[in-house]
Amino acid sequence: MSDISPLALANGEFYPGQSGTVELVAGQLPSGNPVSIRAHVFRSFRPGPTILLLAGVHGDEINGVEILRRCLRTRTFEHLISGTVVVVPLLNVYGFNNFSRDVPDGKDVNRSFPGTSSGSLASRIAAGLSKNLLAHCDLAVDLHTGGRGLFNYPQIRYSPGDETAEAAALAFNPPVVLASKAPSKSLRRSAHKSLGLSVLTYEGGENLRYDGHSIQEGLAGIKRLLYDRDMLKRPCNALTDRSPVRLVASSWVRASRAGLFQWSKRSGYPVRKGEPIGMIFDPHGVKPNKRILSPREGFIIGHNNSALVSQGDALFHIGY
Ligand SMILES: [Zn+2]
Repeated sequence: MSDISPLALANGEFYPGQSGTVELVAGQLPSGNPVSIRAHVFRSFRPGPTILLLAGVHGDEINGVEILRRCLRTRTFEHLISGTVVVVPLLNVYGFNNFSRDVPDGKDVNRSFPGTSSGSLASRIAAGLSKNLLAHCDLAVDLHTGGRGLFNYPQIRYSPGDETAEAAALAFNPPVVLASKAPSKSLRRSAHKSLGLSVLTYEGGENLRYDGHSIQEGLAGIKRLLYDRDMLKRPCNALTDRSPVRLVASSWVRASRAGLFQWSKRSGYPVRKGEPIGMIFDPHGVKPNKRILSPREGFIIGHNNSALVSQGDALFHIGY
């Protein structure tokens, strides 16, 4: 693409130096009102990569929405040195309005990629994003939180073997970088397979709650990534000497018994094999307390903040 050709995204065209918004029609409410997804586009005069920053694929995961809202509000991308930034603060509008991870038919947008324009609502949203935006991008950052009371320590996940994504994850420099295979039909897995697009999944905090640390790490990481790609001037408040904790595998510790749950060690800390990390109590105080021990040495990257757990519930996510 030459320097002066327009970048066509959804229903808009952007020449070098142009910014604006485009709308993707995502569907319709039962009342007949249309539902649209808004993308904010910032194109520099100088050529460079096109990076998509995406949040709200799961409608109840608010930290990512807040991270991108702050970027837009503080005009972070209005003076790019090169390239293009596309910001979608809220993909799953339905879920957002209903405090829900999914769309109204119960389907998960992040298990519906690449999607089809004649499929379920989740599949249509995925197809609209794939065709109109993902296909034109060189890198995407997809912002998430833990679901249903599960807290995730700020981390980037990338697909093992994707060197572009690995380099971008290290430039983002979050507290934790985890190489993990993405689930089938997820945005990360599908976009890499069908479009060759590298996607970073940022996880921080839990659904329906703000987490200040996760929001700050997400904001700083985005600035570090764009600085690394020569798209932003030196982000003085976002540089850090810290190196991320690098993990190549993870597994869940699950509740062997139902009851009242309290963690004694939480996300963000290393853990030794056999170390006590939580307790499950019998609500009647009759059965003995169930101590939860770490099955191996690692780093806690997620924990459950729910007071009540069922047998088999995920309690701790430990990375190795
Ligand atoms: Zn999510």
